[in-house]
Amino acid sequence: MTELAKVLVIEDDADIWRSLQVLLGRAGYSVVWAGDGPEGLRRFEDDRPDLVILDIGLPRLDGWSVLERIRHRNETPILLLTARGLETDKVRGLLGGADDYLTKPYSNNELVARVGALLRRLPPNGDAEPSVFDDGWLRVDFANHEVTLDGVDVRLTPAEFRLLAVLVRRSGTVVSRSDILEQAWKDRTGTGQSRVKFTVVGLRRKLGEGLTGHNVIENVRGFGYRYARPNV
Ligand code: CA
Repeated sequence: MTELAKVLVIEDDADIWRSLQVLLGRAGYSVVWAGDGPEGLRRFEDDRPDLVILDIGLPRLDGWSVLERIRHRNETPILLLTARGLETDKVRGLLGGADDYLTKPYSNNELVARVGALLRRLPPNGDAEPSVFDDGWLRVDFANHEVTLDGVDVRLTPAEFRLLAVLVRRSGTVVSRSDILEQAWKDRTGTGQSRVKFTVVGLRRKLGEGLTGHNVIENVRGFGYRYARPNV
């Protein structure tokens, strides 16, 4: 029997918490709740959640401090809820170690999709990562370096392939430029960011940018890129 993934919601607004409880419960997760920062940290230690949904504006200890303290000792995925759509908040959160963010008011479908994407990223029980990514539109065979779009082969350069592999392994979440450089180019200095930019341009062209009016490789300004499947 598989155990339900456990989501810890740290949120002081009872209406939001109740709606998340229903939504995530329906999506098949077990949900625990904390209404302020210190309680959230306590719950995090006691309940060992698989994922944390963290509000920024919290009583007693704000979300920034909670984020820092969780990240200090742990890699559990964290989805930030930010009230303001401020770009600086998003960047601050992502640089602080959050895995993704949503701005209130968010759509329920989007929230469930992001939670699912973050949980899929976890290797099950520390096993090896899956050897194939397939979302029904794009298929990436990591071992054989093969990519197909709607069943049609796409020829990528080695750099394009490595970049795409990094993005789809973390499908639905934002990957920073420095993470991309480190993982796709083994470059820890972060100085070669224009390589990422140019490779993204090539990838977008080959993945049919413009056909659907949707950027498959989304640019999150000031931070990085995200692979997002188009609605086709
Ligand atoms: Ca709040």
